[in-house]
Amino acid sequence: MIPYGRQSIDQADIDAVVDVLQSDWLTQGPAIEAFEQAMAACCEAAHGVAVCNATAALHIACLAAGLGPGDWLWTSPNTFLASANCGRYCGADVDFVDIDPQTWNLDVEALADKLQAAQACGRLPKVVVAVAFSGQSCDMRRLAELAERYAFTVIEDASHAVGACYAGRPVGCGEFAAMTVFSFHPVKIITSAEGGMVLTNRPELAARLRRLRSHGMTRDPAQMSEASHGPWYYQQVELGFNYRMTDLQAALGLSQLNRLDDFVRRRQYLAARYQRLLQGLPLTLPQAQADAQSAWHLYVVRLQLEGLKHSHRQVFEGLRESGVGVNLHYIPVHLQPYYQALGFAQGDFPQAERYYAEALSLPIYPGLSDSEQDFIVQQVRRWVQESSGS
Ligand SMILES: *Cc1c(COP(=O)(O)O)cnc(C)c1O
Repeated sequence: MIPYGRQSIDQADIDAVVDVLQSDWLTQGPAIEAFEQAMAACCEAAHGVAVCNATAALHIACLAAGLGPGDWLWTSPNTFLASANCGRYCGADVDFVDIDPQTWNLDVEALADKLQAAQACGRLPKVVVAVAFSGQSCDMRRLAELAERYAFTVIEDASHAVGACYAGRPVGCGEFAAMTVFSFHPVKIITSAEGGMVLTNRPELAARLRRLRSHGMTRDPAQMSEASHGPWYYQQVELGFNYRMTDLQAALGLSQLNRLDDFVRRRQYLAARYQRLLQGLPLTLPQAQADAQSAWHLYVVRLQLEGLKHSHRQVFEGLRESGVGVNLHYIPVHLQPYYQALGFAQGDFPQAERYYAEALSLPIYPGLSDSEQDFIVQQVRRWVQESSGS
């Protein structure tokens, strides 16, 4: 079975991890800062804070934004659970904004309407998590205007978008978001096995994120309530967590970062090739969002079901049986039982629901060969036939 995504590990990656194993520092050592600085430089951000996964990164980013009980976090329903759950971890309420039927990203005009309505009843969000779905930023320029006008914090969930660009600059540069979160899970663009990072340009946010990552502890006398007792002394000044990344993970991430350009170039090549080879089939292909250059974490197509011989599910299962490891990103988050118990229901976000009934993620990853891709296209062609007579 050709998987929908897969990591690419080379000898340099292995050597980098082995070097750490033979060093003095398995965790809390120099590899963390080296990875943070390299990511920040690569994305043109001032500060990077590495953590154990992107879910933890989203959690502490929300806390650093001041999110708490009584506040609202809004995000897209077409995302992984973590983009919404981070609000719940902080005790905040979560709501969603439907997706743009063309880009499948959060619909920023729908957001503008919802903000206007929320202002009228005093329920404006404190945080909007803007997901760069499939590796492509949403309309961040307009989002930043709205953030200014309605005074909310933009956290970009760029878990799919390491190596992507927006408005001619790297995603993560902080031009349109206060904080940007990346994931280094093995299916993502670069991997540290498990891992995540928050990038920001604001030193006070970076300092808070570092403290939250490690139990709310500080060794900085300026943050302490009394004079130091001695060289061993630290204070816990708020409730934090152990969300640290290990040096093994950071060394792997840093080594992978050296190949980021190659990874993204190969993904862009495969995506362009899919766009060409799938032309003319009863499929809606991905559309570029103005200003965004995708890192192509996912390549999603939508079935034009009317007139197809097989149902969405039959096409999905047929492709899997044929050896094509398709997947489906995403089940709308508001339809999860957990969120339904909070009051959401079928019909709340119709564009995301309609998308879910038609979407298929085709395999895309740097190690996918042209001939494997030809095989995938051939199988897709076979399974999306139109019913005879139409
Ligand atoms: C993968 C992913 C996450 C969570 O990443 P982890 O590193 O696995 O915690 C969050 N948001 C989105 C959009 C993701 O795809």
